[in-house]
Amino acid sequence: MSAAPAAAGCPAFDEAWFAARASRGVQGLKAYDPGHDLVALRRKFGEERLLELGSNENPYGPSTAARMAILDQMQSLHRYPDPLGLDLKRALATLHGVDTGAILLGNGSHELLMQLAQVFAGPGDEVVYSQYGFAVFALATQCAGASARVVPARTRDRADMPLGHDLDAIAAAITPATRLVYVANPNNPTGTWFGVDALDAFLAKVPPEVIVVFDEAYAEMAVAPDYASALGRLGRHGNLVVTRTFSKAYGLAGLRVGYLLAAPGLVAVMERVRESFNVNGPALAACEAALDDAAHLDSCVRRNAVERDALAQALQRRGLRVFPSQTNFLLVEFGPQTALIESALVAQGVVLRPMGGYGLPDCLRITVGTADENQRLLAALDALLDLSDA
Ligand SMILES: *Cc1c(COP(=O)(O)O)cnc(C)c1O
Repeated sequence: MSAAPAAAGCPAFDEAWFAARASRGVQGLKAYDPGHDLVALRRKFGEERLLELGSNENPYGPSTAARMAILDQMQSLHRYPDPLGLDLKRALATLHGVDTGAILLGNGSHELLMQLAQVFAGPGDEVVYSQYGFAVFALATQCAGASARVVPARTRDRADMPLGHDLDAIAAAITPATRLVYVANPNNPTGTWFGVDALDAFLAKVPPEVIVVFDEAYAEMAVAPDYASALGRLGRHGNLVVTRTFSKAYGLAGLRVGYLLAAPGLVAVMERVRESFNVNGPALAACEAALDDAAHLDSCVRRNAVERDALAQALQRRGLRVFPSQTNFLLVEFGPQTALIESALVAQGVVLRPMGGYGLPDCLRITVGTADENQRLLAALDALLDLSDA
């Protein structure tokens, strides 16, 4: 039943009415697009038959030790978690060779990316990031009421890292109004990355007053020798922030835990806006256990690299363009029929991620699944496109 029509002179209390009362940044904002309604699709197809390759999740799941740590926590659900998350911070500090004061935990790294803009940028300030950069950069900038400077990415026809970040252009886009720069390495949705020479050349050009955020959600999966994390530069450049997550390589997307590493002074300022218990108890325990199981992480990373190469080759044999990737997904060009192909696949229970929102409507983003899942995807594509190389 729909609500009764508002009486004359009474506000509509609809989205437009409330939006007009929202802060400036929120007025022009569109909510994050999570892709398809997976809950509805699971209900329709059943979890077993639905092939979920749209959200870059780890198909192998988390370490068994992480699952057991959650069971252990069932005794203490009536207690608040450690508000500081110190045990997990200690484990992360050991892993990365930093002090615990250099670490901030978030309810997913999405939360931290949003809070960085909230803390360091506002109306009149500029935030710089690349075209095809991770969608949260735009959301965070707008939400903070700051202005975005979107820097054109490398073009599609480049032989070397097409669609990748143009770091020279990003550095050149920095003005006295710039407070924050977001860079994803490797980037989602392009899969592109850069190495240590490009990183150092870029950092040499960024003024120390500008905070540079390196979103490294896929860093663990980047095995190419020409990939470089910014972690090694934290000591030398106090204006750097590196964000990481347990959602991808660690297979714990459902728990929502991310973290950042930065100068302790930056962490202390960010702490001022952090919700007191933003990471829950089972999540803290599971992530600590996950860090202890390096063998599981290694195995996920190795299997992902093997399956990524195999899937890329299989798609290329079918005449499709696959962009280079050091992540657990592939950006693939399907041409003018992309939207039709995508909806035909969803109708069969194969979920990929459409890229129209990123300005790449002729591409789809495909999460690298298990060998079996990738075969099911290829079979569905072959039935649809008759592209089989058999
Ligand atoms: C998935 C992803 C994240 C993080 O997600 P959380 O689950 O919020 O930690 C951050 N950045 C990029 C580029 C991603 O693809």
